Amino acid sequence: METHILDIAGLHVSVADKEIIKGIDLTIKKGEVHLLFGPNGSGKSTLLSAIMQLPGYTVTAGNIRIDGTDTKSLTTDAVANLGVGISFQHPPKIPGITLKRFLQAINRSTDLAQEVIELDLEAFIERDINVGFSGGELKRAEILKLYAQNPDLILIDEPESGVDIENIAVISKAINKILRINTLNKKSALIITHTGHILNAIEGDVGHIFIDGKIVYTGDPATIMESIKKRGYKESVVFLQAEKEREWDEKHWIQGLWKRLKTLPLVRQATNQPPF
Ligand code: ADP
Ligand code: MG
Repeated sequence: METHILDIAGLHVSVADKEIIKGIDLTIKKGEVHLLFGPNGSGKSTLLSAIMQLPGYTVTAGNIRIDGTDTKSLTTDAVANLGVGISFQHPPKIPGITLKRFLQAINRSTDLAQEVIELDLEAFIERDINVGFSGGELKRAEILKLYAQNPDLILIDEPESGVDIENIAVISKAINKILRINTLNKKSALIITHTGHILNAIEGDVGHIFIDGKIVYTGDPATIMESIKKRGYKESVVFLQAEKEREWDEKHWIQGLWKRLKTLPLVRQATNQPPF
């Protein structure tokens, strides 16, 4: 059985002939929740669009595998049928189709009445999709769509952007519920977060800092968020990388000791060899 729900290798993606994703390797094991942190315009949404095979996002090198299947020649519909669902940063408006009809079209078997109440969307279910919805309403409707689709790999793009604190709490709780719907068969997710508020409710397994089309650091998501709040993105990469090296040195103390010793001028003058 395939252990990776998502396997991205050497991925480059261009939009309108401009390279946005500049070489990404990313593996998500089944049941893992990954968080992606990064400044605006760095290509985070582009990465999710490329995974969904949305038109206009051209993979120029590398590949994307969903549960072992290369998505290169698949349509967006086929990717969704592999069990991938997305909550958009900027969800499209669809005049003429109500939210209720849309949900029925993607899921005829599950009664979502409870989820509609939890997401406080009773008043919106008969309205055209996303037309005139506020920031919080848009994001709540996206989460309801995920409940309906019930995908195995969930892509969520900035669930907190344009949303007030109360809505963030409702949305985070709902995302957590979706991720844990089946405790034996946990969902996998790639969640882009700007503010990190989502981390109050969601336990991420792996965090990545994404800058200028590349993943430049991978580590513990809570540690990454804490550092970003203090130092911003770029400085966090330098700081966290140095921390990682320090931890490695402590584990490998002989190498660490030598690394420090050889920076001393006397040692450097005396020998080019380790003094033991
Ligand atoms: P992020 O989500 O990290 O803020 P995006 O992936 O939205 O970044 O955008 C990365 C870059 O790609 C930006 O410079 C943006 O203008 C460009 N881009 C994304 N989608 C399109 C598109 N459909 N047409 C032209 N440029 C695009
Ligand atoms: Mg974005």
